[in-house]
Amino acid sequence: MQGDTVAWDFVSELTTRIGPRPAGSAAELAAAEWAARRLKALGFENVHIESFPMTAWVRGAEQAQITAPAVQPLTAASLGGAPPTAPGGVEGEVALFANLDDLKAAAPGSLNGKIAMIAFHMPRTQDGAGYGYAGAGRRSGPVEAAKRGAIGFVIRSVGTGGHRLAHTGATAYADGRVPIPAFAISEPDGDQIERLVALGEKVRVRLTSSATYVPDSRSHNIIGEIRGSTRPNEVIVLGAHMDSWDLGTGAIDDGAGAAIVTAAARLAREAPRKPQRTLRVVLYGSEEISQPTETLLGGRFYAQSRKADLGMHVLAGESDFGADRVYSVALPKGVAESAFGQSLMRVLIPIGVVPSSKPPGDGGADVEPLERAGVPVFLLSQDGSKYFDYHHTADDTLDKIDPKTLSQNVAAWAALVWLAADSAVDFRAPAGGTMPATH
Ligand code: ZN
Ligand code: ZN
Repeated sequence: MQGDTVAWDFVSELTTRIGPRPAGSAAELAAAEWAARRLKALGFENVHIESFPMTAWVRGAEQAQITAPAVQPLTAASLGGAPPTAPGGVEGEVALFANLDDLKAAAPGSLNGKIAMIAFHMPRTQDGAGYGYAGAGRRSGPVEAAKRGAIGFVIRSVGTGGHRLAHTGATAYADGRVPIPAFAISEPDGDQIERLVALGEKVRVRLTSSATYVPDSRSHNIIGEIRGSTRPNEVIVLGAHMDSWDLGTGAIDDGAGAAIVTAAARLAREAPRKPQRTLRVVLYGSEEISQPTETLLGGRFYAQSRKADLGMHVLAGESDFGADRVYSVALPKGVAESAFGQSLMRVLIPIGVVPSSKPPGDGGADVEPLERAGVPVFLLSQDGSKYFDYHHTADDTLDKIDPKTLSQNVAAWAALVWLAADSAVDFRAPAGGTMPATH
């Protein structure tokens, strides 16, 4: 199947030629330009790059260690957006919390001079449900710790791999800045500190980071279309993000997603008949990190710069959960019962995709601003059982992608978007029938 090669070649070349693509960096721009060339070469129309301003965050030299009761190195990574330490680092006694709620229950001033640590153990789940709660500790932990007097923050990595790798990720801001240095440490290192505390030791940790902020940087959304034959103004958005963390090469997060949506739209173009509606691939920038106060800048920029046009966005979906197989599909309310929904399931069930028992809910971080503006969303759920073993680590590399499951993703996406683009169903009100044709 041609789509197989398109997706694999995309993610393979992107992660090999360019590698890590932090938002606002020269590598992210190089990736945007590479992707635009690739979309053009694949026959996409209206290919262009939309750039927007941001402050980039750049990891510096960094180090973390236990300094008492015995000196031990920690495998650690600064959280994205966290400030640098003073040159000699910041050192303090660890105040250990099982989770974010326990940290929030600490009294004001009770963490004065201390390094707060959240040691939550994220459960492994198929749908990634554990990430919501665990990730909140990473996002809000530093601000909550600082409010109570902490001088530094450490989180046992938000991940499930059990390996000695730190899982980075963005942390949130208050008043425009993360107020204290903040690190993720590997799961085994987190366990080590928990055991020391359980043995009754006073554990001290030193954190050192020379991270910097680069104002006046730019990030980029890359857009390409397969124009519809008879309803070209009606747009279906296929989203993924092109920026990545700096530690790995951004293969599962989210080179795979960019490859899947690109290959799926390309397959629709190669079909014997072009679909009626336009398929618009949007490869977002600045999904992982944005400065100074906002996250998901690319998604917001796309939605805000098209306010007047969002009524013609008939459907949107996003691929941002690795490349393991798709196992369920969630459609806007009432759509599963439509002729479109029934045709779709006749294609998806044989490739192992069943109807979800839940509505799409959050269609994904990049399309969320569209969803909030009333654009219907779908969700092709991927098996995320292993996703958080590698997510945001140095181990997010191409070898973690299985070409077979990548192809299954492309097939599921291609079927859904081709059928949706070739139908006239009003996904906002599927029971109400079809949308009047507009040109
Ligand atoms: Zn992602
Ligand atoms: Zn990510």
